[in-house]
This record gives sequence, structure tokens and C-alpha cells, in this order.
Amino acid sequence: MTPEQRDLLRRAAEVAGMPVSTFVLHSACQAADLLLIEQQPRVSSPTVESLPTFTEPARQRWEAIPADIRQRLLSNVWCGRCRHEVTITNFSGAIKGRDLLLVGKCAECHGDVARVIEGA
Ligand SMILES: [Zn+2]
Repeated sequence: MTPEQRDLLRRAAEVAGMPVSTFVLHSACQAADLLLIEQQPRVSSPTVESLPTFTEPARQRWEAIPADIRQRLLSNVWCGRCRHEVTITNFSGAIKGRDLLLVGKCAECHGDVARVIEGA
């Protein structure tokens, strides 16, 4: 550490109202935190908004549907294996004729499920 760096840290710590050692640790942890957050893949939850595998027309069609309805469409997909309604995950979207076709995996058994959203 150069004397300039030490002086800078001392003054910054004074502003922050912490001992220099606390300030340095605090700052280092903040920087580390940020770095790790940026490193994380952005697939925290099956969000409606991340649509990596939608074709462009399908994405436009999908985004024209209000968010609350989209959420409902995703959470009541029939799974033939589970024999009840499940949430579709890892889905992709494509236009089939006039319909929007979502194909993905059952959140419970990971079997293939699909949902057709009929065109107007
Ligand atoms: Zn299932």
C-alpha cells in the first residue's frame, strides 16, 4: 500500500465513520459481493421475462399477453404423467399456424408438457 492509498483510505473511513480496518473490510466485502452477483447465471426462477428460446414472432405474441395471465398460463399446464395441472419450466415458444405453442418440462416430474395458446 502506498502512503497515498493509506491516506485515501483513512480519509474515506473518516467520512464513513468507521475505523480504517473496518472500512477496508467493508469495502472489500462489498466489491466481492458485487463480483459474485455478476458472476451468477441469471436463472434464479422460471421467470416469464427471460425468454431465451422463443422465436421472434412467438416472443412478440407472448409479450402481448398481460403478465398476470402469462403467469396463470404457465402454472396450469396439464401434465399427463402427474395427472394434474403443473407449472411448465424451461419452456420455449413457437408459432404454430395461428396459435402460440409453448413446449417445456413439468416442474414436478420433468416430463415433457406443452400448452397451446390459441390465436385470435
Ligand atoms: Zn409431471
